[in-house]
Amino acid sequence: MLFTRQTFLVAGLSRSGIAAGEYLAAQGAKVYLYDDVDDENVRSAIERLSRLGCVPVPKDELKERAQRCDILVLSPGIPVDHPLPVSFKRAGKRIVGEAELGALALRCPVVAVTGTNGKTTTVTMLESILKAAGKNAVACGNVGKPITACLKELGEDGIAVAEISSFQLETLYSLRPHVAVILNVTEDHLNRHYNMENYIYLKSRLLKNSAESEFAVLNYDDPIVRGFDEKTKATTVWFSMKEKVEGAYFAENAFWFFGERILSADEFPLEGDHNRANALAAIASAKLMGAGNAAIAAALKTFRGVKHRMERVGEVNGVTFIDDSKATNVDSAIKAIGSVRGESVLLLGGKDKGYSYEPLFDAVKTSGVVHTVIYGENAFRILNAALSRGYSSVTLCRPFDIAVRVAYLTARRGQSVLLSPASASFDAFSSYEERGNRFAELYNTFVKEAGRAEPIPALPAAGREREEAE
Ligand code: ADP
Repeated sequence: MLFTRQTFLVAGLSRSGIAAGEYLAAQGAKVYLYDDVDDENVRSAIERLSRLGCVPVPKDELKERAQRCDILVLSPGIPVDHPLPVSFKRAGKRIVGEAELGALALRCPVVAVTGTNGKTTTVTMLESILKAAGKNAVACGNVGKPITACLKELGEDGIAVAEISSFQLETLYSLRPHVAVILNVTEDHLNRHYNMENYIYLKSRLLKNSAESEFAVLNYDDPIVRGFDEKTKATTVWFSMKEKVEGAYFAENAFWFFGERILSADEFPLEGDHNRANALAAIASAKLMGAGNAAIAAALKTFRGVKHRMERVGEVNGVTFIDDSKATNVDSAIKAIGSVRGESVLLLGGKDKGYSYEPLFDAVKTSGVVHTVIYGENAFRILNAALSRGYSSVTLCRPFDIAVRVAYLTARRGQSVLLSPASASFDAFSSYEERGNRFAELYNTFVKEAGRAEPIPALPAAGREREEAE
């Protein structure tokens, strides 16, 4: 791309929009800025980028300015059917995401990870394995560090471990990963992608540029992901929790890669088969990037997980608080329910994303969940799903704070309060992080009330776009 000859409009001024603006300005491009929102964060982004020569566009001048820009850099938070990208499309002009700018500029090998759930966990795990193997690996992309902001750090010798969401895949064309990982595809974001076919198609786009010399690390246990093998030229390396596949697998209570035993399951600290599956994907990718077994085992043994993903907040009056606020769809909540030890009181609810909650209650009925507290904007939709599955051990309580207290009062000693909402947070919070942090604050209130604390050290956080998918 010849940046100096083109005029860019960067729309959406969160993390990736700021990075795109900074990157393009440094290339000598003419850059205009726009955001529908006018809040403190956006104003500070505009101030920062204006110092580099970028020019903000007021709402009433947008139409006219857009007509005179060549390329739209669209934030993943803005849907492609928003009037602004539609106007670019109609005019036959290019629409790219920040990840596309990154893909065009990267000079080092890339491991790209997508899937409905487990991306951040897997990317973080893989970064720590590759670092343990002495490589300059950088977790980037949707995990919170835009790709264009990591170019210098990566240079030619680094390894970009890029988390790629379906929102990013809408405007990503040039990425050609050395290893492309697809973890799973289950119902999510149907409010944005309209139907499963479109969502599946978007996920498959991660593989479209791959040649035979590159690798696709695919989940053998997921029928949709298994089907991608037929659609890619890349060499498939499987991972499976169930079968001894050509690739990474779980057998005899251990993790294996093509007949080599990597690690015993007892040495891997995260709970749940879904996390073991993530570890298998990370093992396969790490092996393909040249990591040795000792480094892989050492990094996995000490991996602590990521904040707001099945995070043990603490214990009070014998009740354990578990923050799984990042479980923003049904499948991730089902996995949470299945991996909690013992009995629990489940907290569900938030902003609806257009899918059905019935499968959740099939799982709840056969799990250690003794009661469910439903809160938030979609509370009645969830309640309907519960009742339609014959599950009635429910309290409906719309405000979050009160719902958490009700869950705490309902739980007995030895049980857990599990926040695994199966919904986005935007009905009442700015992000799943804010929701998880509020949960931890309420826990601290209960500790004070009880007059004693049993805190647990905090986990590292993953930063995301303000408007990014949940
Ligand atoms: P993502 O980046 O894809 O959103 P995360 O690693 O942040 O994934 O995890 C999101 C939620 O999904 C968390 O609640 C986590 O416990 C759950 N989860 C993690 N890995 C998986 C998996 N492989 N399958 C289903 N759920 C998962």
